[in-house]
Amino acid sequence: MLLEGDPFALLEGMAIAALACGIEKSFIYLRGEYPEAARRLEHAAAAFSEREGFQVELRRGAGAYICGEETALFNSLEGHRGEPRSKPPFPTVAGLFGKPTVVNNVETLANVAPILAGGAEAWRAVGTAESPGTKLFSLCGHVQRPGVYEVPFGTTLRTLVEDLGGGVRGQRRLQAVQCGGAAGTFLRPSDLDLPLTFEDLRARGATIGSGAVVVMDDTVSLLDVVTRTAEFFAHESCGQCVPCRVGTVRQLELLEQTDRPDRRALLAEVGQVMRDASICGLGQTASNAVLSALQEFDL
Ligand code: SF4
Repeated sequence: MLLEGDPFALLEGMAIAALACGIEKSFIYLRGEYPEAARRLEHAAAAFSEREGFQVELRRGAGAYICGEETALFNSLEGHRGEPRSKPPFPTVAGLFGKPTVVNNVETLANVAPILAGGAEAWRAVGTAESPGTKLFSLCGHVQRPGVYEVPFGTTLRTLVEDLGGGVRGQRRLQAVQCGGAAGTFLRPSDLDLPLTFEDLRARGATIGSGAVVVMDDTVSLLDVVTRTAEFFAHESCGQCVPCRVGTVRQLELLEQTDRPDRRALLAEVGQVMRDASICGLGQTASNAVLSALQEFDL
């Protein structure tokens, strides 16, 4: 949405970051599936470079989910397979082409210019002490008005789902809300008054993650949803480390063995190993959705 709707917000944030950090070379790494964003970014980057003299190189990936992980992104930019690197060293010490690198997501960089223009105090006046400012939430699923909503941190899940999203569509009953993307946690209808902040979601065992909020009504089979999520992670695992390469496949197999009495215990064990021993966030969080659905909804 930001890249297509306001690409200059990203470019301004990048130019300010480059100036602040003495950065010599800047890249935008864009997933291959966004041709419209690529077209608009190319146009905006050319205009911005002509006016401001800030050069940025747009590179397009081939669509791997793992290339959103910062060090896999570096490898992909360098022309290697998009596999995460072990950390340390961290990107600020040895990142792209072995150089110190600042790497941030689009939403963060788009917030830089407004913070600089209005001042940190004005930014902090919105949201909460630990989660200042606003956040974009991508609301989808069984709501009347799906869309991307920018709200102050601290807005409740109920305001997002019921007031902005218009509530569950078709007069059905709300069953669950998955918050944070594919690796996100399942929340119950009784969680609707949860304020959307880093601290409140952490205390509830959930995360804001990508800002994706998926609303599911009572027609949804949560077991099917988590099985599809498990399929997704088994497919997207880069295969570099054993806990994730094998764990994501075992997790999927266990979900499909619905009559197995020790299934829950084994899923918990596989999840623990992936969380503790995987190299990157994909493997570390690949069991989140499954385990939270099992726990919250007794699947
Ligand atoms: S955790 Fe998974 S995605 Fe990450 S490096 Fe290991 S195999 Fe690759």
